[in-house]
Amino acid sequence: MRVPARSRVVLATKNAAKRGELASLIEELAPQIELVDADWSDVEETGSTFADNALLKARSVHAATGLTALADDSGLEVDALDGAPGVRSARYAGVDGPGADAANTALLLERMRGVEDRRCRFVCVVAIVGDGFEETVRGEVEGNLRTEAAGTAGFGYDPLFEPRGWEETFAEVPSPRKASVSHRGRALRAAVEWLRRRPGFGAGENSA
Ligand code: IMP
Repeated sequence: MRVPARSRVVLATKNAAKRGELASLIEELAPQIELVDADWSDVEETGSTFADNALLKARSVHAATGLTALADDSGLEVDALDGAPGVRSARYAGVDGPGADAANTALLLERMRGVEDRRCRFVCVVAIVGDGFEETVRGEVEGNLRTEAAGTAGFGYDPLFEPRGWEETFAEVPSPRKASVSHRGRALRAAVEWLRRRPGFGAGENSA
């Protein structure tokens, strides 16, 4: 099967867990899109909104590779903390690398100790940037912050996040169940819908 170059998409993320979630959703929703690996230098996330940062990443990877690039920027907004950690979710505790998730969740639990209002939401903005086009789409999921971690699946703040109407955290369910309601699942479904309306990305266009 030959895949035309314009059906190729490069995922502009170096976060393996996010990459895995995005890749399996794209495979399920749009098998006509071929995901390709490419090399690029890390982009500094200097934007003040999720959309700014998602666009920064997608633009930079599109410029470096010439391919249509898809990036997400995401985070957790806690109402009682005025929306923190928000765009700073990845580096909330100031720790980089393998210990970051544990440090971030510990700090968040500490800041929320004794706080009754546990409402929060995950937000994800997906940006798609290609030759002559740019688009952003947003997905959100409302929930409550647990008072202690539960579950080992997923990544980041998943062990603390209980979606509204659920009895489990995101870290206690298999990845497809998380993706069925998650911020990333919602944003990516909207992004794929948008992309498949563009010439070259529709279903069946590369089946010859
Ligand atoms: P980004 O790479 O700047 O988008 O960082 C996103 C950060 O937000 C991650 O490092 C996590 O701390 C948090 N985050 C985003 N999405 C999720 C999720 O689906 N589960 C848990 N944490 C998430």
